[in-house]
Amino acid sequence: MMHEYDTIIVGGGPAGLSAALYSSRAMLKTLVLEQAAVGGQITSTSEVENYLGSISSNAIDIVTRMKDQALEFGSEIKAEKYKSLTKKDNIFQVTTDKGYYECKSVIIATGSHSQYIGCKGEQEFTGLGVSYCATCDANFFRGLNVVVVGGGDSAVDEGIYLTKFANKVTLIHRRDELRAAKSLQERAFANPKMEFIWDSTVEEIKGDGIVKAILVRNIKTNEITELQTDGVFVFIGYKPNSDEFKEIVKLDDKGNIISDENMHTSIPGIFVAGDVRNKMLKQIITAASDGAIAAISAEKYIADLNQNH
Ligand code: NAP
Repeated sequence: MMHEYDTIIVGGGPAGLSAALYSSRAMLKTLVLEQAAVGGQITSTSEVENYLGSISSNAIDIVTRMKDQALEFGSEIKAEKYKSLTKKDNIFQVTTDKGYYECKSVIIATGSHSQYIGCKGEQEFTGLGVSYCATCDANFFRGLNVVVVGGGDSAVDEGIYLTKFANKVTLIHRRDELRAAKSLQERAFANPKMEFIWDSTVEEIKGDGIVKAILVRNIKTNEITELQTDGVFVFIGYKPNSDEFKEIVKLDDKGNIISDENMHTSIPGIFVAGDVRNKMLKQIITAASDGAIAAISAEKYIADLNQNH
């Protein structure tokens, strides 16, 4: 059976839910397609401290409030995996693993995913000691020793979180200074459970069914040392989830969907919001802002379409 919408939003993270809220409040018939859990990447973090108006809020509480707010104003949310998008006579056809939909505008809000180290053993031990989500897996490492790879906000934030569970958290960073916000750095340096290995990368993850050790290379001396560890948490940035759209809209050389400040992509009627687009600051607050702008741009686009017919 075919269903018609004004706007279909692909992705149910903060960008998608914000777009849904603004779109449904503009009385547009709105559908959010989310293949996994609503909330996107925030669901893999613990506390959120920097979303305006929420000091140290539980991430799941924030997501639940966002979802309820979008539903309250009439958005529909379906647990379906986006498959394809085509356009004919100003109508978009969207297929998912469960259905077929038509709509006048599309907002891509598919977010991003963790970047992999790409070293030997990483894939083999994923879920067996290698993790990309401290909130999900920290509990398995109570009283054990873990390493965190990366030097940005995620690595430091999640490293501090892991100290609540692990005996020791060793952060391995490829430079001799962290990229993370200074306030996070201060907390990490003051934490007696945290240690730091500078100018180093992980060359190999070794184990026997589960992670037992890693080989660490000092990039200045090239010296390789073996470090015993029970877990490896990887936080070395994110890659945009744009693969399924690369033949449809223009991307930059990092795979971000190119947009203007009003969230227009290279194709009229397709808008973008959140971490999947090219921008400097990828945060919950900027995702929410993008979503609001994308929805209002879609509203204007649909009004123009209606006027011209
Ligand atoms: P990020 O800021 O891009 O930092 C990635 C870190 O990983 C950098 O330290 C980088 O080293 C290192 N790295 C990159 N590729 C590597 C590789 N192949 N091998 C080893 N190390 C590598 O990513 P993020 O920390 O995940 O943060 C992403 C965005 O989310 C940022 O905008 C961040 O502010 C935001 N965020 C905010 C919070 C918060 O405010 N509490 C929490 C989490 C995330 P270099 O420093 O040498 O480049």
